[in-house]
Formats: sequence, C-alpha cells, structure tokens
Amino acid sequence: MYLEEHTLLRDKNMIPQNLFFKPYACCIPVKGFGRSIIYDLNRSVFTYIPNSLFEIMKEHQGQTVAQIKQSVEPYYWDILDKYFDFLLQNEFILLANAKEELNLFPALELSYQSPSSISNAIIQIKETVTINLPHLIEELSVLGCRAIQIVFYGEGDVNFLSKVLTLFDKSRIGSIEVFMKYNENISESILDQIINKFRRIHKLTLYAATKDLIFRNFHFRMQAISFITRSIDYRLQMPIKDTSNFRTNIDLFCESQKFNTYFNQKVVIDINGNIKNAPNTEISFGNVNDQSLAEIIHTEEFQALWHIKKDDIEICNLCEYRYMCVDNRIPKKKENKWVHSEKCNYDVYKCQWNTNSLT
Ligand code: SF4
Repeated sequence: MYLEEHTLLRDKNMIPQNLFFKPYACCIPVKGFGRSIIYDLNRSVFTYIPNSLFEIMKEHQGQTVAQIKQSVEPYYWDILDKYFDFLLQNEFILLANAKEELNLFPALELSYQSPSSISNAIIQIKETVTINLPHLIEELSVLGCRAIQIVFYGEGDVNFLSKVLTLFDKSRIGSIEVFMKYNENISESILDQIINKFRRIHKLTLYAATKDLIFRNFHFRMQAISFITRSIDYRLQMPIKDTSNFRTNIDLFCESQKFNTYFNQKVVIDINGNIKNAPNTEISFGNVNDQSLAEIIHTEEFQALWHIKKDDIEICNLCEYRYMCVDNRIPKKKENKWVHSEKCNYDVYKCQWNTNSLT
C-alpha cells in the first residue's frame, strides 16, 4: 500500500511513542530527487514514500517517536503518527524496548560476488556466417555462463535452429532465450515440438511478426512462445518503458551498488564472431574465431563498462529506481562526468514516465 492511500488504521494513541525503531534489514529506503522508495528485498516489491519519511528512516532510526517529536514542531506530530502507523502496518520497521536491542538486527551485507566470470551472453547468428559454435559454447560453460540469448538473423529456419540448439545438449548453460524471424510457414505444432524437445529454452520469440501475441505460456515449465511485430534491433535495444521493466530483489540490489547491472558479466558475440560488451556497442575486443574468449573478457578494457554503476551516472544517480533498473544505454564521459546521450523515459525531477515516446 502506498502512503498516499494509507489511512490511520488504529487510534493514534496506540502508536508506540516510547519504543525504539529501526527499519528491517531487508526494507531499504532509497532516496530520489522528488520521492523515495522502500525496496522490500524479501518480498520483492517496492513502495513509494515521501523524502521526508526517507529522512526519518535514515536520520532518526534508533530513536523513539516521542524523541523525534521533540525535534520537530507540534504541527508535524500528526504526520509523524501517520508515518509510523504506515511503517508498522506494512512491516517495514521493528520496535525494541531498549536502543541496544536494535543491535541484534544488523544491516544486510550488500557486497556482491559471483562464481561466474560471465553470467549472461548474447550470440548473434547468421546461417551464412561461420563461427565455431561448439568451441564457443564450451568456452562460455567454462566461464560459468548460465543464461544465453541466441539471436538468429536471416529468414526463420527451424532446421537450422534445431541444429544450433542441439549443440547445447551437453553444455552447462541452464537457460536459453531464442529470437528468430517470423516465418508464416512455421506452424504452431512445429513451435510446440521445439519447445518440448529443447527444455533449456526459457523463451522463444518470433520477431517481425504480423501481430504481438503471447502464443504459449507454459508456467509450470517456465517456458513461453511469443510473437512481436518489432524488429530485432529495436527489441535488443529497447529502452526502459515503465516500472514493469524492473525487478526488486536482493541480488540485483547488491550488484547495482558496485556494478552496471546491464553490462556486468555480459558478453556479446556478433554474427562475425566479434566480442563486444552489448549489441549496440561498436567496439570489438577481438574475435572468437582466433582469440581466447576468457583472455579477452578478463581484460580491464573489456570490463570498463561493468564498473560504471548508476550512482556514477548523472540523472540516474538522482533516481529512486537506480537499484532495480537494468538500462541498456551506454554511459559516456563528458566533462569528467558519466552521462547518457539518450534521455530516459522517466523524468526524475517530475517523477513521471513519458508514455508518448513509446508506442
Ligand atoms: S533515470 Fe536511470 S535509473 Fe531511473 S529509470 Fe531512467 S535509466 Fe533507470
């Protein structure tokens, strides 16, 4: 429930005035320019709060409501009661009889470590261009990569798709997302056969289709088939549209404290075998046909974008969504500051989404 919708559910005399409060470790307030958000990392949800409540949660934790009231004008006491009722009803804070008891509830350790050198990869494939796929799959497996997007260019060809997917049969890659061009000759039963045979497929999307449609959604197997009218280039570079693009969870929250969550541990192999940071970056760091992928991805140059976190980037560093947002724009250095040349659809100053720029 949002604070605006919250009405004082209990008699305000029931709000404990002399107990010491602290936010639960998994309920982390994050300040934005115009408002703040409580990231509820255990329940994977978020809640908007005004910046005034953020200040109370940050600056006054460890105090009692009565103590906080002493530091503000009596005019604000009713608001404070409403704030604390809201925090308690939503289980965002815990209360203790003595301040020392709060030490029994330490803050979360927000460090991020991953056993993988690469966590996700995009392989762009064209039937007419040869790259040594078995070798590439082996290299990615050794690097600990668990999730792969395979993007097929050219006309949608199911036989070629099956041939490529078979190469993953003995790999350690756990999840595969496939993009293939729509072809009216690919029947529903063929798509069903593919998804049944290759259980690693998490999502199969046919792009440049005649309509947008989720054709099959196998919730029990976490598999889906869908059609999109968009081109594949748009789909791979799709900007953040609204909050449906976000995920609130502890892994992403921790990773985003130190890393750019789009570029970190990602590698893209384009149709010619070039090793890149993302589909929309121009720099190639080498080629899988004649160089070791492991050597390249461990270089400082390749990992440079990994370390440019949202807190380092102008505008994003004022945004309350910055620890849940995986944004594919490429940060650039301008006058010693990291900036984006394309505008985000979210206006951090007005706290509004620009819905007009997206169709
Ligand atoms: S301003 Fe930055 S952090 Fe906020 S939604 Fe846009 S891209 Fe994400």
